[in-house]
This record gives sequence, C-alpha cells and structure tokens, in this order.
Amino acid sequence: MALIKPEDYYRFIESLQCNYYINGKKVQKLLSHPVSKSMVDATAKIYELALDPRYEEVMTAKSHLTGETINRNLHICRSIEDLDKRAEMAQLTSQKLGTCNYRCVGCDALNALASVTWEIDQERDTRYHTRFNNFLKEAQENDWAVSGAVTDAKGDRQKKILEEDPDMHVHIADQNDEGVFVRGAKLHQSGAAAAHYTVVIPGGALRPGEEKFAISFVVPNSAPGLTYIAQYNPYSAEREACTDPTELGNPRFGQRETSMMIFENVFIPWEHVFMAGEAEYAVKCISRFAKVHRMNCGGACKVGFADIIIGSCLLAAEYSGTAKVPHIREMITEMVRLSETAHAATIAASVKGREEPEGSGVYMPDDLFGNVAKITTADNFWKIMALAGDIAGGMVVTMPSMKELQNPETRTYVEKYLRAAGPAEKRMRITKVLQNWTAGLHGPGTWHGAGSPQAQKISLYRSANLEEKKKIALEIAEMEEE
Ligand SMILES: Cc1cc2nc3c(=O)[nH]c(=O)nc-3n(C[C@H](O)[C@H](O)[C@H](O)COP(=O)(O)OP(=O)(O)OC[C@H]3O[C@@H](n4cnc5c(N)ncnc54)[C@H](O)[C@@H]3O)c2cc1C
Repeated sequence: MALIKPEDYYRFIESLQCNYYINGKKVQKLLSHPVSKSMVDATAKIYELALDPRYEEVMTAKSHLTGETINRNLHICRSIEDLDKRAEMAQLTSQKLGTCNYRCVGCDALNALASVTWEIDQERDTRYHTRFNNFLKEAQENDWAVSGAVTDAKGDRQKKILEEDPDMHVHIADQNDEGVFVRGAKLHQSGAAAAHYTVVIPGGALRPGEEKFAISFVVPNSAPGLTYIAQYNPYSAEREACTDPTELGNPRFGQRETSMMIFENVFIPWEHVFMAGEAEYAVKCISRFAKVHRMNCGGACKVGFADIIIGSCLLAAEYSGTAKVPHIREMITEMVRLSETAHAATIAASVKGREEPEGSGVYMPDDLFGNVAKITTADNFWKIMALAGDIAGGMVVTMPSMKELQNPETRTYVEKYLRAAGPAEKRMRITKVLQNWTAGLHGPGTWHGAGSPQAQKISLYRSANLEEKKKIALEIAEMEEE
C-alpha cells in the first residue's frame, strides 16, 4: 500500500527549505507561521482521511501502473466510476476541511496530462507519456502531494501573448541536452508551498509562433530559482493575531491559502518535461483540465462547503430559537435545492463521461455538464451565503471577540445578552463559522476558482449542440432548413 501517514508528511515539511514570503517577511519553516501552518495541517488531513477505513473507497484507488492502493489524488480516472468517486472525494474533503483539498488542482492537471501526453506521442515521435507515467509511478509510490499550476500572470488582458513581456506567461527561456530553464509566474497557487511537487501546464490556447509557452513539467518544492509569495488578507491577520485558534471560524484549516509562484530560470530536467513546444496541444491540455476541474472544484467541492454552511445555519437557528419558524425552514430548503442542483450537474458530468481520446484509457467528464456544474455553483453559492447571512442575524457581523468570554469584566454581560435559546458561547462559535463563509473570501473564490464564469459561458455555447436544437424547432414548425 503506497499511502504515507500524516507524520511522514510533517517530517517532509520540517525538512523543507522553501523560499516563502508572507506579509512582507520570509518564513523559513511553514509550521512556524500560523497561516502557512493551516495549509500544512489541511494537507496532512488528506493523508489522514486516506488511511481512515471509513473513507478508503472514496480517498483511495488502485493504480493502473502498479496495482497498488494509492491516494485518489494521484489516480488517473479509467472509468465512469472513477470520475464519480473523484467528485465524491472533492465533496468529502471539503466537508472535512472547510477549505481546499490542496491536491485537487494537481490531480486534475495530472489527468489532463495523462490524456494529452498519450495523444502527442501517438501523433508525434515523442516520449512524453512514458516520462509522465514514470513520474506518476514515483509520485504514487511516495504518495507525494502534487499541486497544480495553470493560471499565468498574463499582464494586460487585451494584449496577445507575444505583445506582452514574455515573463507574464511561464515559458522556456533556454534549453540544453539536460533539460529546460523556465521563467515567469503562476498566480493563485492553492497549497503549492506545502506540496512536494507542482505540476505545471500552459494557461491557455496557443498559436503558431508561441511555441516557447507550450511547456508542461513538474517541479519540486524548493527548486533553485523558485519563490512563493503568499496571499494576505484580514483573515490572515486575524489568524496571526489570535492566541487561541478556536476563536476562529475554521480553527485548524483556515481560509484557502494560495501564493504567487515565481520561476526565475528554474532548471527542469527532460525526464520531468511533458510538453515542450507543441503549441497546438496547449488548447487540448487546458480544455481537458478545465472539464475535469469544473466538475470537481467548480461543482462537487462547493457542495461540501454548502453542507457545512447549511449545518451551521441549522445549529444557529436552534441556538437562537428560530429553528421551527416557517420562513427559516423555507430558507434551509432553498439552500439544499441550490446546492443539490449543482451536485446533480456534477453527477451528470461524471455519468456522461467518456474515454478521451479513444484508446488512451483516460476518462474525462462530460464538458457540457461540467460547465453547467461550475456555473450553477458560482451563481448558487452567492445565494446560499445570502440566505446564511439572513438566518445568522446581525451578530454575524457585530459579535464581539470570543476573548470577552475570558475577561472577568465583560464575561457576564456577554454571556447574559448574547444567549438566546442556546448559551452565548455556542451561539458565538457557530456564528464565527458562518462569518468565515458569509463575510469571508469564499464568494469571489468560488466565482473565479476553476475559471471565471465567462469562460464557462463560452464553453457552454460551443458544446450545447445548438444546430441540433434548431433542427428540432424546424421539425416541430414543419419548416424546411434553408
Ligand atoms: C481561491 C482561488 C484558488 C485558485 N487556485 C488556483 C490554483 O491552485 N492553480 C491555478 O493555476 N489557478 C488557481 N486559481 C486561479 C483561477 O483559475 C483564476 O483566478 C481564474 O481563472 C480567473 O483568472 P484571473 O484571476 O487572472 O482573473 P481575470 O482573468 O483577470 O478575470 C477577471 C475578469 O476579467 C474578465 N476577463 C479576463 N480576461 C479577459 C479578456 N481577455 N477578455 C474579456 N474578458 C476578460 C474575466 O471574464 C473576469 O470577469 C485560483 C483562484 C482562486 C480565486
């Protein structure tokens, strides 16, 4: 069994010397800073879940390369059942963490690469798929946490790639017999600083002349020339300032932690390069990544978050004495409808999945339903948060610090005036959980994560078979096509 324990992962983190900056300072050890520690703890929890017999069916799979039991985050989907289990893993890990399964983007990028490297090798005289499988086998055997880097800095969105500074997109700066040197930056990298490796794919479609941007590879954390600059926001500041994490909305796993990932002539040996110059395959790579990621991160993951929000609302209503009020029940029902509609599209995306390309053995979700899952989630998540804010009441914004419960001068007032049907402390703690969602970063995070909705709208328009719909209408109207 190729599964490592959380302790093994913590040992790796302790030995890690990465170039990581947060709030203007370099942090030598990820465990020494409360914000990066929350990201490490969340990644460790994924290792714990995979070893838990209750979750093994969802969290583990059998490797098609070694036959060993591996973490599902390193598994290539080989059937519709695999697609379904992959989506279930996204929901489960969201329920358990209340933040990102930091191996999710990496998992979906590995699946896209399994499919695309197979296709390039079929059509060109290349060995990318063999190299890819060699890396994947090693990753599976060592149970490496692999994050995924897709989003380039891009620069001015109106400019074509060749009109911008080349560093705005990760590219090959130089190459020799041993490998390539890459430059540029990937932004918003979920959990990358706490991963063993990051898998990098092109951030978009490419045209002839843009070959140097058609680069895919894996890079170990702490490779020379690699720098991480962490996100920072009021929630980071709150975590830094607090002395007792149980005062926070997600005490152990925190907000979703990302960082900029900057490549300053980073050397990548050829055995870790899976695409180098094949510009016409970039669109296949990004679109296959997108269809997998929209089903998992865009759809299923947020259903798990909604489960936490709905559960918290039920508790908040019990503690405030509104649990049986008809319009509160109606709002809970509406939240369930909004979340399960996105869930249904996720399930449809996996059930309607198919092998792509034929003969590769790699299964991809259905594009149309994957996009529907993500776009429905993006819309519905805001609505769920609005309803949660309604149920939670004004306290979700105005509640005092949990520290008042320890202060002899204020404690009795807070306990007396903030109790309702339930005691003040319980009310405050569950309200803090809801504050984390309704007044936190998850709204825009859900909107843009897995791609901004405009990208899904474009994909939907393309994949909706509109010509067929016109034919159906003409037939009903008993008209001939012109
Ligand atoms: C919480 C979170 C976690 C993430 N994790 C990862 C990760 O682990 N790995 C990773 O690679 N990425 C990650 N991302 C990045 C995510 O995929 C991007 O945020 C998303 O694709 C949008 O890109 P952007 O942020 O550059 O926004 P932009 O592309 O700047 O989009 C902003 C707005 O401008 C519009 N727009 C942009 N360009 C154009 C154009 N040329 N023409 C017309 N309209 C345009 C968009 O439609 C949108 O409305 C994460 C994002 C978030 C929020």
